Amino acid sequence: MSDLKFCQGTECHMHKTQDRIKGTKGNKTYQTRRRSKFYYGNGNFCSTWCQNDWFNTYGDRAIDHFGRTTQAKHLTEQNAWEKDYDYDWQSRTESNWRYVNSITKEQRPLTQAQFNDTNYTLNINTGE
Ligand SMILES: [Zn+2]
Repeated sequence: MSDLKFCQGTECHMHKTQDRIKGTKGNKTYQTRRRSKFYYGNGNFCSTWCQNDWFNTYGDRAIDHFGRTTQAKHLTEQNAWEKDYDYDWQSRTESNWRYVNSITKEQRPLTQAQFNDTNYTLNINTGE
């Protein structure tokens, strides 16, 4: 039982579903869902409903706490490289691994090893 965790939704117990009713006869209550695993909001919420409830309650404070975006961020040419490749469905083979700059549309060839290397990048880390 110790591996179970509670949904963090602020109103989880207010959503009247049959699985939330717990307790003995005459002493039943709707309760916050408790599961070994949740699939929403990084595993913190039982549903998008509960995730939205949490955000409606705490979202503004969370954004203010971690830093509100007050001006446009920019994806520059230096950081617009995206890996791409061609896939042939008939032969089920990959080919033409490449970097494509989503701003300039310039293409640069990649080896398959470079494509698969998650540390290999043409993008310049801006520390963003
Ligand atoms: Zn919930």
